[in-house]
Amino acid sequence: MEGEQLLPADGHVHAEFSWDAPRGSLERTCARALELGLPGLAFTEHADFVQAFADQRRLDVDGYAGAIERCRAAFPALRIVLGVEIGEPHWFPADAAKVLADAPFERVLGSVHCFGGPAGAVDWSQSMPKAERPADLMRDHLREMLSLVESTARFDVLAHLDYPKRYWPQDAGPFDEAPFEDEYRNLLRAAARRGAVLEVNSTRGMDPARGLCPGPSPLRWWREEGGVAVAFGSDAHSPDALAAGFDSARQAVEAAGFRPARDPLDYWRR
Ligand SMILES: [Zn+2]
Ligand SMILES: [Zn+2]
Repeated sequence: MEGEQLLPADGHVHAEFSWDAPRGSLERTCARALELGLPGLAFTEHADFVQAFADQRRLDVDGYAGAIERCRAAFPALRIVLGVEIGEPHWFPADAAKVLADAPFERVLGSVHCFGGPAGAVDWSQSMPKAERPADLMRDHLREMLSLVESTARFDVLAHLDYPKRYWPQDAGPFDEAPFEDEYRNLLRAAARRGAVLEVNSTRGMDPARGLCPGPSPLRWWREEGGVAVAFGSDAHSPDALAAGFDSARQAVEAAGFRPARDPLDYWRR
C-alpha cells in the first residue's frame, strides 16, 4: 500500500537442523516472525559437504522437512518456505543433487564459504582475519563464486556474494569494493545471464560496513549488469537475529533501484 513500509520476508534463516546453529529453533523463530510482523520467512538450513570444522555434519533432510510441516500446522498465519543453503554445490554435484531430490525445496541458496577445494577446504572465517594479502584472497573468493555461477549446480539465489568481507582483517582498514570492481561486474554479469537472484545478506545485524554482503556499490552494479531481482536474508542462526539489519539492507536495495513485489514473499525487482 502507498506509504506503508512493507517488511520483506526473511529469506535466509537457520535453526536446529543447521550444524552451526546450537541456539537455533524453528518453532521459536516462527513465533519471533509473528512478533515482528513478518509476512513469512524461508528456512535455509545448511547442506555442507566439506569438512572445514570438526563438528560439521550432514543435513537430516527428512527430519527437517517433517519439522517444517509441523511448523506450518502450528503457525497457520505465517508463510513458511522450505529452503536450503548448499555450500560449494559445484564441488559436490552428486551430493547436492541428492539433497535436492530428497525434499520439495522451494528456495535454494548457492554459497561459497571455503577455499582450498573439496578435499582441503578452509572456511574464510578462519583464514581471512589473519591474512597478509587479503585483497588476493578476496579475488580468489570472487573467482570461486564465478565458478559456482558458471557451473550447472542448481540454485535460485546467490547468497552473501562477498562473504569474506565479514572477516576482512581489522588492521587492513575498512573493506572497499572499488579495487575489485572488474571482478564483481564480471561475476554479476554471469549471475544475471543464468537468471539468478542476488541476495543482500545483513549478517545478523552486524555493522553494515562489514556485514552487508554485498554493500551499496555491488548492488548498483548488479542492476547495471542486467540483474533483475534481489532477495533479503539476515542469516540468523537464532530467533533473536531474525530480520536483523534489514533497515540498512533495504535502504541499499532501494537506492540501487529495486522495488518491493506485490507479494511480500517474492523477490524485489527493478
Ligand atoms: Zn552461508
Ligand atoms: Zn546461512
